[in-house]
Amino acid sequence: MSSVLSLTRPGGWPEDSSPRSVLFNIIPYGCCGADREELGNYIARLAAEHRVSRGSLTRRVIGPAAFEIFKVNPQRLVQEVGTSDFAVGVSGVTTQAKQWANILNHLTRRDDLELCTLLPFKDFISTFKLQSVSRRCCPACYEDDIAAGRATYDRLLWRVAAVNACPIHELRLMVLPKEPGYIHRPELANNNRDDTAQRFLKSGHKRVPASRDEIEDARLVANLIDDSAAFQTMTYSVSAQSTFLHHVIDTFFDSKSAHFAAELGVGKSQVHAWVHGQVRMSLPRLLLVARCCSCEVTDILLGKQVTKHFQSPSKNESSRIIQHLRRGAKSPLAEIGMRLRKLLEDGEVSDASAASDVLDVSRKFLRRHFPVENALLVQRGEENRRASRREATEAFSRAYLAEHCALVDAGIYPARRLVLERVDVEVHGALKHRKVQRAQLEAHQKTDTPIARRGGPPVVRLYVNKT
Ligand SMILES: [Zn+2]
Repeated sequence: MSSVLSLTRPGGWPEDSSPRSVLFNIIPYGCCGADREELGNYIARLAAEHRVSRGSLTRRVIGPAAFEIFKVNPQRLVQEVGTSDFAVGVSGVTTQAKQWANILNHLTRRDDLELCTLLPFKDFISTFKLQSVSRRCCPACYEDDIAAGRATYDRLLWRVAAVNACPIHELRLMVLPKEPGYIHRPELANNNRDDTAQRFLKSGHKRVPASRDEIEDARLVANLIDDSAAFQTMTYSVSAQSTFLHHVIDTFFDSKSAHFAAELGVGKSQVHAWVHGQVRMSLPRLLLVARCCSCEVTDILLGKQVTKHFQSPSKNESSRIIQHLRRGAKSPLAEIGMRLRKLLEDGEVSDASAASDVLDVSRKFLRRHFPVENALLVQRGEENRRASRREATEAFSRAYLAEHCALVDAGIYPARRLVLERVDVEVHGALKHRKVQRAQLEAHQKTDTPIARRGGPPVVRLYVNKT
């Protein structure tokens, strides 16, 4: 069979028949930007429709096809499916997302799967922190899915880091627990996304209503996702962003970009760079400007002069967008010094940044005027952080040991993968792998269980607590 045929007709079809999709041509869920399905979820659903795991589908169909078209190593795709952050990568703006969207378009004979990723934004919006790394959801959306008789599915909108609310139910998005990774056993990476969602719904979570700004931001991004189909045929031009900003600054700020910057609460140099097309605006900034100008993000990107009035950002604008102006430096230096020394003596602050928050001054101010106290605070902060890291690692080791012993007692060899599946304490920070390895070695030493070497039979001995 020629390479083209295998991608346009499933095996066994006559060569003169019209092209058929190799995989089922299932339609992505959702009818607008607020509820469009993300690609990671689509792949899980596609595998479920074929009654196989994502790993098997990739190994048998997607991988070989990717090799034929893009010369991508099929084994690499299989391993990608096994990682716990697969859904993050595949729905984002990376080459990985592009390859998966393209190959699935081929296999399902669709042409819109790229719209289930954030790829259409790639050339228009700064990709810095565009995507949320954790899996988030709106529980009310999941309940709508169940009521409609379909499997719960993840919306692309929830993948956007700047979105913190569901525009339909006006609830804050909630973080779902991480799925276990199956990098060495991708065939186990079954369609457990739905299970995780179901478990989350039953866990008795507390729903938090979203603020007005959060709902407005979510609505703006949903509209942007709706518009993203048009982005595919367009090219980005810096002059559009400049045209929009020039219009706003000329009309409402007397052509003074510094006043516009002060009103938004961003730096003058930053606004200067936007206006002169040197820097692409990030999504949180685009949302802020769109909200103040009562327009859509697309209007800014296309340079439409639609702004009729300018509304200042609300006072409770979240601190992630507007920098908090510190006014403590206006007090006399001697007074600040006295307060700082008292804070140090009482041990009320854990580090330099906590002290600068209490005194309402910047870190730079603290460093410049009180170098000795600042050095002490920095040292204290470092010690505190080290202690809390040590504590977290020890908690992980204890949890690891407990699960290790439980497996040994049940007569099961405590392979690291099995133990990690049961441990519910997260291990944080750098050298994560090394921490896990150390916990494993300690557990094996304490319980006197030999580590099974490749090829050798695993040895299990009952654990007797000697203390
Ligand atoms: Zn919702």
